[in-house]
Amino acid sequence: MASRVVVIGAGESGVGAAILAKKQGFEVLVTDAGKVQDKYKHVLTESDILYEESKHSEEQIVNANLVIKSPGVPDKAPLILKLRELEIPVISEIEFAGRYTKAKTICITGSNGKTTTTMMTYHLLKEAGFNVGLAGNVGQSLAWQVAERDFDYYVIELSSFQLDGMYEFKADVAVLLNITPDHLDRYDYQLQNYVDSKFRILQNQTEENYFIYGADDPIIQKEIEKRNIPAMCLPFGWTETPENGAGIKGEELLINWKQKSFNMSIFDIALQGRHNTYNSMAAGLTGMVLNIRNEKIRESLSDFKGVEHRLERFLRVHGIEFINDSKATNVNSTWYALESLSKPIVWIAGGVDKGNDYDALKDLVKDKVKAIICLGTDNRKIMEAFVGIVPDIIETQDMKDAVRSAYYLAKDGETVLLSPACASFDLFDNYEDRGRQFKMAVREL
Ligand code: ADP
Repeated sequence: MASRVVVIGAGESGVGAAILAKKQGFEVLVTDAGKVQDKYKHVLTESDILYEESKHSEEQIVNANLVIKSPGVPDKAPLILKLRELEIPVISEIEFAGRYTKAKTICITGSNGKTTTTMMTYHLLKEAGFNVGLAGNVGQSLAWQVAERDFDYYVIELSSFQLDGMYEFKADVAVLLNITPDHLDRYDYQLQNYVDSKFRILQNQTEENYFIYGADDPIIQKEIEKRNIPAMCLPFGWTETPENGAGIKGEELLINWKQKSFNMSIFDIALQGRHNTYNSMAAGLTGMVLNIRNEKIRESLSDFKGVEHRLERFLRVHGIEFINDSKATNVNSTWYALESLSKPIVWIAGGVDKGNDYDALKDLVKDKVKAIICLGTDNRKIMEAFVGIVPDIIETQDMKDAVRSAYYLAKDGETVLLSPACASFDLFDNYEDRGRQFKMAVREL
């Protein structure tokens, strides 16, 4: 039995893991190579948990029986390699927390749409009266909740980094939305490694569990053909509804499960756009397998408020609608943003390019975008990709300038969309900061 636990990384998940470990009677050390935020320092001190910052004292770490690693720490970090060499188990916070709760888990992963679908599913369960917690990349960490007040159900957003440190954990309901190449730098630039990581969401499942997945996704389809999946498979897609699964019939979202069926008009879904219809199918299917009444599912999908920075329609100024999609940090999510809107659009894009290929956007941009406002320290790639396709391309390096230029170009009835397709670190702290600055600049118009 492990007695000494070391937690690497003192963020939300690390601090939660430390609190749970302490409660379970382990000797605990938290170590962070960077600075620890004051709020977490306070909690650790209050809970009588030892921690160190701006360093890793190796001798204090290599004598651990178990190491819990925060998802932000790469597997290739020298310290992690060393621990592996010493055969000290390194697990993720979700794996650890899962050992101390009997709650049913609904786990949601994918390249895009995780947070939206997680929040939507949580909203649905809560409205249906479940005793449910929200965990993973959103909200309070799972370990923290398990330590302080356990729930009967958890809706958990899982990134591939969390999944990589999971071994015995089992999802009662696993949701895999889509797979597009992302974070390949952490997967030796091998797509298959990333796919394998996402499919860890199925590990340990039995016939009593469910696997809900995006069937229109070619990478998922191909992978499923190779695997023997014990769980009950429930595909969703923009096709005819299968015997068990979700699909579209005319303008209706239609779900079949066992002898039951659910339907609602796609226009009544609160979050519009094809991608959000997919997300709603996944949430709706989860509701069906948990036996939530149709009425409740319909109500929850139609009154869900959405999540900040994800196609957030927050203000109209002189008839121009401003939409904050700052979370769109790759080409795929921007594709869905453009697809879901009607023309004409003034599109604010750019930032840190993660090896983007803009070809996939060209048709949509040609059809719907009347002007591009580039917002990044290096805008060359976007300008080169769209020159000759969009008449007006303007370069800015400041949010206020970008918003003013967009306002100047847009007319009554048109849309200004911030959907950068890039990371934010050149000009902003993170995507939240970028989204907030955008909203502030619009409010100042
Ligand atoms: P994640 O948590 O996986 O990063 P989010 O829900 O935060 O996903 O959404 C990120 C971005 O992806 C947003 O810009 C959103 O509009 C877009 N998006 C949401 N759902 C999907 C989906 N199913 N497929 C593709 N893009 C999506």
